[in-house]
Amino acid sequence: MSDLAAILAARIASDGPISLADYMAECLLHPRHGYYATRDPFGAAGDFTTAPEISQIFGEMLALCLAQCWQDQGAPDPFILAEAGPGRGTLMADILRTLRAVPGMRAAAKVHLVEASASLRAVQARTLGDGGVTWHDRVETLPEGPLYLVANEFLDALPIRQFTRHRDGWAETRVGLAGGHFTPGLGPPRPEPALDHRLADTLPGEIVEICPALPAIAGAIGARVARSGGVALIVDYGGWRSRGDTFQAVAGHRPADPFASPGAADLTAHVDFEALAQAFAAAGARPSGMTAQGVFLERLGITLRARALAERLNGEARAAHVAAHRRLTHPGEMGRVFQALACTPHMAPPPPGLDPA
Ligand code: SAH
Repeated sequence: MSDLAAILAARIASDGPISLADYMAECLLHPRHGYYATRDPFGAAGDFTTAPEISQIFGEMLALCLAQCWQDQGAPDPFILAEAGPGRGTLMADILRTLRAVPGMRAAAKVHLVEASASLRAVQARTLGDGGVTWHDRVETLPEGPLYLVANEFLDALPIRQFTRHRDGWAETRVGLAGGHFTPGLGPPRPEPALDHRLADTLPGEIVEICPALPAIAGAIGARVARSGGVALIVDYGGWRSRGDTFQAVAGHRPADPFASPGAADLTAHVDFEALAQAFAAAGARPSGMTAQGVFLERLGITLRARALAERLNGEARAAHVAAHRRLTHPGEMGRVFQALACTPHMAPPPPGLDPA
């Protein structure tokens, strides 16, 4: 048994089966043995690839969206340029490079990164240089000021709780030990006030998930945007309103059993964009509509940019570039399973590329 498995087994032996949220939090974020603490999961040698690791054009389009919002809101100087869950720092590097083309914007940006993993902070410092970058454990400690924030595949790493509908209550998925293996099971059905509204649109046997940390994190971001101006642009796996079991593990670019070896696989769940929009709105910011990643990137001009880059490439590099563009935008690849949603202050023009709410 790995160190993390032994820690989890001891906890289950003393307290009984734990929620999926507790299991996920320990597996991903345990300071010594958690998934993000022990490895650099990105790229061909890692476990998964994200949009910014596929092509620089993803970050370029997000930078265009931020730049339009910045100009629309009077080009504040200085402003906070923040990223939550920056991975290798690739997206922020692409954004910073692109912002140099916007007069005054790069110089006005104070870069702040929200990152829980010490080892990924080191990777980010290598990518970005650590001069001028400030790291935070949580979004709540970002400094005051106009906030221009991006988060790609950050919210899908937040722990979720999962419930199965019964006639008039909900049974929570809990992780126990059976025959030395971590095994999910269902607790006794009981009322769950947070899910009262879902009794109307689900049937017994259906599964719904909630992300307990989402309202506070999105609320803190939305409140700052509402108070000080800016935009928060969220891109992630997910859809409008949680439905079904979306808890999944990936290791070595393949689906894995999330319970087989804790801490050795990436664990995620789909983001509920309805809950995200509600948290932004409750904090006083104005959410956009949820927009498919492919549609969002097309509206920002990704195809024009991809063509311009392709003209400078030949042979294999050109083929790889064309494939990357397709992967980011095509509805059968990342174009539709990934969605984008932003929030801005009520008085500001809406961000480009996104549907209205
Ligand atoms: N945005 C990057 C990486 C996505 S992976 C990309 O698109 O490539 C998720 C990132 O969020 C990692 O950097 C991980 O360490 C970080 N992370 C996960 N949970 C976190 C939390 N609760 N607080 C802060 N950072 C977290």
